Amino acid sequence: MTAPLKGPLAYELRCSWCSRAFPSDEPAHFCPDCNRPILVRYRLTVEVGDEIRSQLHAERAGLWRFRRVLPVRNRDSVISLGEGGTPLVPAKHLGTHLGLANLWIKDESLNPTGSFKARGMSVAISRAYELGIRRFCVPSAGNAAGAAAAYCAVAGCEIRVYMPSDSGEAFFSECRAYGAEVSAVDGTIAHCGARMRQECDLNEWFDLSTLKEPFRLEGKKTMGYELWEDFGGTLPDVIIYPTGGGTGLIGMWKAFDEMEQLGWIDSHRPRMISVQAEGCAPIVRAFESGEKVAASFPNPQTDALGLRVPSAIGDFLILRALRDSSGLAISVSEEEWHNGSSWIADDTGIFACPEGGVAVAALKKLQDRELVAPTARIVLFNTGTGFKYPPSTWPNATAQL
Ligand SMILES: *Cc1c(COP(=O)(O)O)cnc(C)c1O
Repeated sequence: MTAPLKGPLAYELRCSWCSRAFPSDEPAHFCPDCNRPILVRYRLTVEVGDEIRSQLHAERAGLWRFRRVLPVRNRDSVISLGEGGTPLVPAKHLGTHLGLANLWIKDESLNPTGSFKARGMSVAISRAYELGIRRFCVPSAGNAAGAAAAYCAVAGCEIRVYMPSDSGEAFFSECRAYGAEVSAVDGTIAHCGARMRQECDLNEWFDLSTLKEPFRLEGKKTMGYELWEDFGGTLPDVIIYPTGGGTGLIGMWKAFDEMEQLGWIDSHRPRMISVQAEGCAPIVRAFESGEKVAASFPNPQTDALGLRVPSAIGDFLILRALRDSSGLAISVSEEEWHNGSSWIADDTGIFACPEGGVAVAALKKLQDRELVAPTARIVLFNTGTGFKYPPSTWPNATAQL
């Protein structure tokens, strides 16, 4: 006789800065006292950990297999397109090319809408819908907008998206196809956010901006849980993560903490490595100068659009994870990541987003400078597909006339 599957764990909401508590059964944004993210805290014990682990085999594939540590209360509230459960691809040729013996790519391009933004949006929109929200808005470089618009299409909700006018045309057509109200804004995602706040009454339009609500992070943290499963109940030695707002990195770091409380892992952690483009590297600057928070990066410029985030509300959480894990932050030039994009495609058969190319180029730099051990077990995140970016993004792949 098998016991019936249990429901999700109770949670509380707390400011990540001042620990102020917020009601868990109401829509939450960010802490009005500190302007800092609100995070979800579950009551986790080793007993609960044993119970969850012993029933994982009965859960479905994809990120909802970790539903017991996700905020959605009712199974019927889940709005899913099959997100998560992405492959961990052994990258033997790329590893040889870079002088690394144990390299894998966690290929997030296989998510619905072609990027890991689907993880966060599936969970955030499911929980918001469960709490009665039907209208959403989001500023985005492209991938977050596409994912949010897709899940709103499934849920039958309205959404307004604000994207930089120089984002690829594919991002715009995709969002329009899902029925979103689409605005093009001159400037970066920061300008998009400002325009959104001008045009949308945030009491009527729920703001899905990065870390301005607590649940996208919960979706993204499942990458950490999946790595634990991918590595047979252990974690890799090094994680290379292209960092914009940093949700994925903060999320995985949170997942590792949760898994330790659940008794699944010990206190040992992978080295967390943030990679950015030289034209927009606020985290790298702050890391190198020993700051706890990151100053806004002036005049941000890079074609790796997901990394063109001049200031991140979760900066202190990113920097803390890098330091606590003996990790670091590193940036690469546009020319360097163009090469990284060529290598990943040519060596692995994955047509990665530019941010994936940035990660490859950064890994090469780390290896050249002997900042990673050649035998370390390294996971590099390809955060999305290259298919949505305009041809000008790939100068190395343009036909020579
Ligand atoms: C949004 C995005 C990123 C940055 O993700 P964060 O977790 O917010 O740092 C990286 N790559 C791609 C393709 C993205 O869309």
